Amino acid sequence: MKKLIILLLLAVLVLTSCSPGLESHTVMGMDTFITFTLEGDLPDGAQELLWKYEKMFSRTDPDAELYLCNSMEEHTPSEELYALITEGLDICEKTNGAFDIRLGALSELWDFTSDTPAVPDKSDIDGALEQISTVTVRDGRVKKNAAVKIDLGAIAKGYIAEKCTSYLKENGFDRGIISVGGNISAFGKDENDPWRIGIRNPREGKSTIGYIEVCDGYISVSGDYERYFINDGVRYHHILDPKTGYPAKSGLISVAVISQSGALSDALSTALFVMGYDASMELYGSGVYDFEAVFVLEDGTVRTTPDSGFIPN
Ligand code: AMP
Ligand code: MG
Repeated sequence: MKKLIILLLLAVLVLTSCSPGLESHTVMGMDTFITFTLEGDLPDGAQELLWKYEKMFSRTDPDAELYLCNSMEEHTPSEELYALITEGLDICEKTNGAFDIRLGALSELWDFTSDTPAVPDKSDIDGALEQISTVTVRDGRVKKNAAVKIDLGAIAKGYIAEKCTSYLKENGFDRGIISVGGNISAFGKDENDPWRIGIRNPREGKSTIGYIEVCDGYISVSGDYERYFINDGVRYHHILDPKTGYPAKSGLISVAVISQSGALSDALSTALFVMGYDASMELYGSGVYDFEAVFVLEDGTVRTTPDSGFIPN
């Protein structure tokens, strides 16, 4: 069997214009690159925040709070972990299960962070799907079957970008950009001179398809080119369809979501990728969430919601 493995982890968004006086600081965390573009040095407190959240939200670190919660049937997590699990479950319901934080057993099975990822056996995929069952959150407690593994990988990075933004604003930083593995927070500009955030071409790594203008907001991109491998000519990427157990095949290869919440942008970019263009536009039209989006279809066509702020090349 000919097996070609390519595993890419690229920042999915690039900054195409920067104001003078800004410096970039990159640190590693949560299995990805985290870049702060700020006026001045990165304060120690920001790094400490990242460590705190890494210990809170990791599914794989035995010392992490989420890991502990995942091993139990009933648990009272910290208020922040409880709130993010609650928000994740709510988004799961409102996206009709396209976004589902209960799929940790499935993520573990596919293991896209391994050096040698492989297509799991169908029977193992079915077994992992059976483990997706009810998680109840009430009065600060999380109740579930101990086999259900919660995975916050599609919402936590955006949440962290938002928390870092609040911290920096409270500590005197008036403007800047934070990228947590491609989940961007851009803050402190006005309409005369907005940030320009480039959207990567999903099939030509070094180029962009255009950019989004934003003054204060969050942008997250989910694409089939961030973490993937190719086996017998088939691309297997890390965004899973919780209904099939396989990488989502919705006709989209990249989705960028813009909103006023980091966690929501992150979760919705994953959800819309799974739902596909038509269902995404239905969700947009329903008004359940306030967001804008830029879609790249399989054939390279770009579609946007009316107020996305996207400017093509
Ligand atoms: P993102 O890069 O934000 O789209 O998130 C992808 C990560 O979230 C994956 O690496 C998995 O850990 C997890 N994930 C994959 N598919 C889903 C899904 N449909 N719903 C929720 N989380 C998911
Ligand atoms: Mg996401």
